[in-house]
Amino acid sequence: MSFSSFGKIGYVSETKVEDFVRFLEKGKIMATKCRRCGKLYFPPRADCPDDLSSDVTWQELSGHCKLLTFTTVYFAPTGFQDDLPYSLALVQCEEGVKVFAPFSKDVDEGKVHIGMNLRLAPKKLPNRRITYELKQT
Ligand SMILES: [Zn+2]
Repeated sequence: MSFSSFGKIGYVSETKVEDFVRFLEKGKIMATKCRRCGKLYFPPRADCPDDLSSDVTWQELSGHCKLLTFTTVYFAPTGFQDDLPYSLALVQCEEGVKVFAPFSKDVDEGKVHIGMNLRLAPKKLPNRRITYELKQT
């Protein structure tokens, strides 16, 4: 499976971090880590935006994270209209990186609160596509 299979809609078909999709298929949430400055990036980046180094390596994230904030989307971009309304969250992973991702449908939004534990996990989509989401722990 190539990067063209990532996400509900493919905005790009090629990337220098194509292995990201293969890791997701295996159930692994992988970030990139800059070998020069040590910063983690998720989604993965082939080049460090901080020091422009291309010397990056893969690092698996545990998926354990805490909710920082969230919002509910009522007007969606192209391809996401059928999901409305849906919620997007910003979480802090235990490895320190902040991640922006949608809630899984299994998250009871009546019980959502800042600081709650969530788990970042791969999500299979129709037509052999794949993405990631935040699940209830
Ligand atoms: Zn760096």
